[in-house]
Amino acid sequence: MLEMGGQIGWGKFILERFEPAAKGASVIVFHSPFATAYGPSSKPVCHFIRGVLGGIFTGIFREEQTIEETHCAAQACPFCLFETHLSLHLVAMTESGLVTDWLHSMKKG
Ligand SMILES: [Zn+2]
Repeated sequence: MLEMGGQIGWGKFILERFEPAAKGASVIVFHSPFATAYGPSSKPVCHFIRGVLGGIFTGIFREEQTIEETHCAAQACPFCLFETHLSLHLVAMTESGLVTDWLHSMKKG
């Protein structure tokens, strides 16, 4: 399902984390056409992808999911990062910069 993204021109989707029991998921999107079209921004701009992922994970988890775009390519990030709203621990990590550090270390490895 998520692999379809690239084929329909939405960039490259990677299901970075999936925790069915906790109803938690993270999706990384490279080359979001929305961020490219929008240009530099201080806020995430890929609201359409956020809405679509919300629908997908609401279906998967059978519970209303609100998706947050915690990083956006429009913010000079190399990718967009979307999290289910219930992934609170990861959101907290994101705010403290730990996720960014972790992603940087992953890229090196
Ligand atoms: Zn974005």
